[in-house]
Amino acid sequence: MNKILLLNPPGKNKYLRDQYCSSSAKADYYWPAIDLLVLSGIISSHFQVEVLDAITEGMSAEQTLQFVKNSSFSAVCALTSSSSKDEDFLLFNELKQNCGLKIILNGGFLRHNTQRYLEEFEFIDAVIVDYTQSGVVDYIKGKKGRLPGIWHKSGGIIQQELCAGNHEDVFSYPVPRHELFPLGKYRLPQARNFPLTCVLVSSGCPFKCKFCSSASIHYRKRDVENLLIELKAIKKLGIKEVHFPDFTFTADKDHCVKICRAMIDEELGLSWDCLSRVDCFDGKLARIMKKAGCHTVQFGVESQNEQVLENLTKPIDNKTVRDAFVLCQREGIDTIGFFIIGLPQEDEPSIKKTIAFARDLNCDYASFSIFVPDFGAQIRTELEKKDPQLKNVYKFDRTAFPVTESEFVSKERIWQLRNEATRSFYLRPGYIWKMLGKIKSGSRLRVGLRIFWSICKEQFKPGVRL
Ligand code: SF4
Repeated sequence: MNKILLLNPPGKNKYLRDQYCSSSAKADYYWPAIDLLVLSGIISSHFQVEVLDAITEGMSAEQTLQFVKNSSFSAVCALTSSSSKDEDFLLFNELKQNCGLKIILNGGFLRHNTQRYLEEFEFIDAVIVDYTQSGVVDYIKGKKGRLPGIWHKSGGIIQQELCAGNHEDVFSYPVPRHELFPLGKYRLPQARNFPLTCVLVSSGCPFKCKFCSSASIHYRKRDVENLLIELKAIKKLGIKEVHFPDFTFTADKDHCVKICRAMIDEELGLSWDCLSRVDCFDGKLARIMKKAGCHTVQFGVESQNEQVLENLTKPIDNKTVRDAFVLCQREGIDTIGFFIIGLPQEDEPSIKKTIAFARDLNCDYASFSIFVPDFGAQIRTELEKKDPQLKNVYKFDRTAFPVTESEFVSKERIWQLRNEATRSFYLRPGYIWKMLGKIKSGSRLRVGLRIFWSICKEQFKPGVRL
């Protein structure tokens, strides 16, 4: 029987490569990659599967190579990302040369220019462009021709994905093999319980924000019965906490209510968090989500500048943002706000107002990212027209030094502002006092202290302030 390795490759940084993402964890947190989890269910229905999360296990590239050499895998399905591409590709090439196995890759930047990557890099045998589809199984079985969710080389010919963008609107897949992942080693600051895992309820996003690559992924919902089977299996495994990494968990309110009702009726007793959008959220949803075990909702605020948001086709006003945060606070749900520093057309005074807005919202955690011209985001095409040099910018990380400057703010100043934002949010006595008051268990205190310490280390290491 073919043995397949699902690999989160090692890295110099703690790269976050799941959900087509390209960033690094800047504090002591990490979660299991949803792409590999979903693939573990789909592939293990046909083949023997092993999982190696080399980042979480703290393994080097040499140790990873040795591990694969000592095993007898016929294929590896590996994550990659724009920020880690060079390191990843060196390893994949070594794996190909030394172990002769099929190299199947999954990563955001590969969903664009797929043909070029397959042509240019001999060691890449196939690229998964939709990890919820079963074409990867057909490919490993040796099927020729076009297959769902995967591009591949067959007899020297590149075969495109079958029916790209024309999938069923409701999807299901076999229960992921959560037990194969090192669940005891994953940490999230907002988690109430451990061990934790990730579960998917939808794919893609129905919104079309110009700066976001998720807008290019067709929105589909997971069958609720199928989801419930997985949640029951998780409970049986002793998992207590779920992170739902969907781009917008509440995009379809009816679907969200059905999921919450099912979780309540089945008395699953899981604690969980999810990502939402402020204009897809209301009091009724907040109440049922809380009842179903939700303790934290994450919102993409991006900027307080309504004009900037409108230009980026995310026309949300500050009142709607405030209302969503207040609704959560009223229901006893914690909040995480995501903010982007260095958005096109945003000047320094506007960025400073955004940093102040993050504090005003009184969110429990704030994540300040750098604007990146992500592949698949409409804004990248627009910016490339203005600056053809941008076509050569393929490596970026939302949590690292900027690769582009805005019309008004230099790269150096964007980086300074981003770090000032993190310090001014987290290193407030009032904030520290509030968060200490929320800690109700020893395990949460330990995780909180580790994360707080890693934020301090990151912020005060040489070069961060510039
Ligand atoms: S920013 Fe959020 S709402 Fe907009 S497309 Fe991306 S995931 Fe969807």
